[in-house]
Amino acid sequence: MSEAVVALEMNYDEWLEFCTEKLGLQRYRTDQICQWIYEKKVFNIYDMTNLGKDLREDLAYKILILPPSLVKQETSKDGTRKFLWQLQDGQRIESVLLSHGNHNTACISSQVGCPLACAFCATGKGGFLRNLTPGEIVGQFLAMEKAAGQNITNIVFMGMGEPLLNQEALFKSIKILNHPKMRGLGARHMTISTAGIVPGIRALTELEIPVRLSVSLHGTNDMLRNKLMPINQQYPLGSLIEALRDYQQKTGDRVTIEYVMIDRVNDNTEQAYELAALMNGLSIYVNLIPYNPVDATYRRSSQERIKAFGKILSELNIEYEIRREKGSDINAACGQLRRQNEKSSRL
Ligand code: SAH
Repeated sequence: MSEAVVALEMNYDEWLEFCTEKLGLQRYRTDQICQWIYEKKVFNIYDMTNLGKDLREDLAYKILILPPSLVKQETSKDGTRKFLWQLQDGQRIESVLLSHGNHNTACISSQVGCPLACAFCATGKGGFLRNLTPGEIVGQFLAMEKAAGQNITNIVFMGMGEPLLNQEALFKSIKILNHPKMRGLGARHMTISTAGIVPGIRALTELEIPVRLSVSLHGTNDMLRNKLMPINQQYPLGSLIEALRDYQQKTGDRVTIEYVMIDRVNDNTEQAYELAALMNGLSIYVNLIPYNPVDATYRRSSQERIKAFGKILSELNIEYEIRREKGSDINAACGQLRRQNEKSSRL
C-alpha cells in the first residue's frame, strides 16, 4: 500500500508523472483515468472499463479515490440542496447547491469550521478545527455533482471557512478543477469570497487562473467592523482597500462587495454614503444580503431599510442587488452552516 497515491490530491503534472514514470503507462492512460474521475464521476477503478482488467486490478491497489461520503442530503422548498459530508478522519463539512434556471452554483467549504469568529455567523460559533486538503475541496465538488446527477456550472468558496487562510490548498484545488484534462471548469465560473485577508488578496493577483473575487465588508468603519469581524483588527479597512486597489490595477477585474444587512447595526442610510466614500475609485458591485439570524443577537433589516440603503447606492452610481434568500428552511442560507460532529448531527 505504501506506494498508493491519493488521487484527488494530485494535479495534472503529478498524475502524468505517476502514471508514466511510476507505473510505466502510456500518456493517454492518464487522460483516460482523469476522464473517469473528473468527467464521469466514476470513483471505482473496477468500473473504468476502457482500462484492461489486469490494469484495473493493479491500479486498484495503487490509486486511492476517496471522495467525501454523503451523510445526509436535504432539499429546501426553493430547490436548494444541502449536503453533509464525512471526511476520511471523520470530520464533517457542509456544502450547498443553488439552482438558478440554466445554471447552478456549488457553495463549497474550505475549512472544517472557521477561525474568524465573525459575530453574526453560525460557522464561526463552532470554532475551527482544520484546513481542508486540495483533494477534500475537489472531492466535495465532484461528490456533489455525482449526488446531484448533473454537472455544476459555478463554484463559490462561500461555505464554511475562510478560503484565503487555506491558500495553498485552495489554489491547488482551483488548478485541478480548471485543468482542461481534469474538470475543465472555467476561471470565470469560480469565485473566492474572503473576509479580507490582505496577503491572500495580494497572492490572488499572482494566481494564473483569473477567478473572481468577493469581499465580505459588512462594516464601513473600523470601529464597527472590528466588532462584527475581529479579523479587521489585523487587516483594517485602510489596508484592505489598498489591497483591493492594487488587485484591481493588476487584474482589471471588478470586485463584488458583500454586505449583510443587520437591523440598526450597519443599515443606516449614512452608512450607505460611508460605503460609497470608502469604495471611491474602485470598480465594485454590491450584494446586499438580508441577514439570516443565527441567535438572538442580531435581527434582519426590514425590506424598507434594505431598499432605502440600495437607493442611495444607486444615486451614487454604485450597482447593487439584493440577494434572494435561498435554502433558509433547511439552514442552508448564507452564514447558517455549522460544524457538526457525529454525536450532535441529527441523522
Ligand atoms: N469566510 C468567507 C466565506 C464564507 S461566508 C467570507 O467571509 O467571505 C460567506 C458569506 O456569508 C460572507 O459574506 C459572510 O459574511 C456571509 N454571512 C455569514 N453569516 C451570515 C448570516 N448569518 N446571514 C447572512 N450572511 C452571512
